[in-house]
Amino acid sequence: MRDISTTNEIRRRNRARVLEHLIVDGGSTRMELAEACGLSAASATNMVQDLLAAGLVREDGLVPSGAGRPRSFVQAESDAAYFVGADVGESEVTLGLYDLTLRLRDVVQIGASSTSTSPGVIADELSRGLAELERRNIDAWARVRGIGLALPGIVDTNNGSASMLYAQSIGWPPVAISALLPNQGIHVVADNGAKAFARAELRCGAIKGQPDAESAVVVLLGRGVGMGILEHGRIVRGLSSSAGEFGHMKVVVDGPQCSCGARGCLEALVGSDAIAARWYERGGASFDSARECIAHLVRHAADDPLAAEVLDDTVRYLTTGLSNVVNMINPGLCVIGGWLGSELMAARAPQIEAGTKSLALAHPGEQVRVLTSRLGGEAIALGGALIALEQYLETLGEPAPHSASHVPTTSIGADMRSLRSL
Ligand SMILES: [Zn+2]
Repeated sequence: MRDISTTNEIRRRNRARVLEHLIVDGGSTRMELAEACGLSAASATNMVQDLLAAGLVREDGLVPSGAGRPRSFVQAESDAAYFVGADVGESEVTLGLYDLTLRLRDVVQIGASSTSTSPGVIADELSRGLAELERRNIDAWARVRGIGLALPGIVDTNNGSASMLYAQSIGWPPVAISALLPNQGIHVVADNGAKAFARAELRCGAIKGQPDAESAVVVLLGRGVGMGILEHGRIVRGLSSSAGEFGHMKVVVDGPQCSCGARGCLEALVGSDAIAARWYERGGASFDSARECIAHLVRHAADDPLAAEVLDDTVRYLTTGLSNVVNMINPGLCVIGGWLGSELMAARAPQIEAGTKSLALAHPGEQVRVLTSRLGGEAIALGGALIALEQYLETLGEPAPHSASHVPTTSIGADMRSLRSL
């Protein structure tokens, strides 16, 4: 016989699963929820009842049901909870405020600082961005249930109470996550930016609803090169969360120096600075930034032989790296995004897919599809909000923690208290 704690835990998990389905896949009838979440009709009805009592969902009209009674339609209550996703990017920090249905309600961008500045500068920008979001959304702020940071580097969460950021390639020493955003009074969680981006593609982007999404990789291309590996809807992390460090895959023995200190890394060949350097080495015209340079290459790929050559060489290195990933991981989908990924796919998508397939072993090469991310500029911030949402769903209805982890403090909202009393 199950003891009470096991029964409560199962109920808690089922409740979280039902709420997650309503958030990510939209409103449903109780019958649809039961089928989608693998629950009995009675159990789905009970879970919806719990969530209605907690104010996290609402009934919204009736839908016809053949000859039977019309069924009521259940939706997540958008204003019941909010999440902040923060993208610590190459040139700015972007913070998005998302409601419980993952709709972007406000966005703040801070600074022209780069990630090569110190952790203290980034901590200051994060604090300023949050203060601005709070000032502009004072009513919603009391219902912010989590902040998710998407960071440049390896975020090792395995130590629990001492989550650390290892951002070797931008020259930072190891940094405690708690040092980046102290004293917010809101639960703070963090992960690597590419892993956050992969969550966004899985829940809201190119992978959502795809039949071959069981195994997928999401590539983030910009100045840095990252990857999130997905297996059965979960991020593959490895022993200390560094799985997916695609940018530091070695593709040329004794190749160009990488920012990590090694030679021949993919990032030193297809990162935006490396592409611009290739253009300049071959006598290309000068631009104010690598981003402007690459926009020029893409715009003139058809009429400038040098631009075409630089892009073709970039594609050869990128597809070499991707084919290694295909052989190692055997993904069904490979999604390419980030500002540089979007540019390269705009100019060379057929070559990137064909090159990846032809360099990989025949069987996994035939299976993989290469897609372009369609999420916009806030995709990584959305991924940050999804990290915070995942954490919220994990703890929904749990007893209050005895002590905070790396989290400064945890605010306990009315919804949590209500579920605890169930
Ligand atoms: Zn490297």
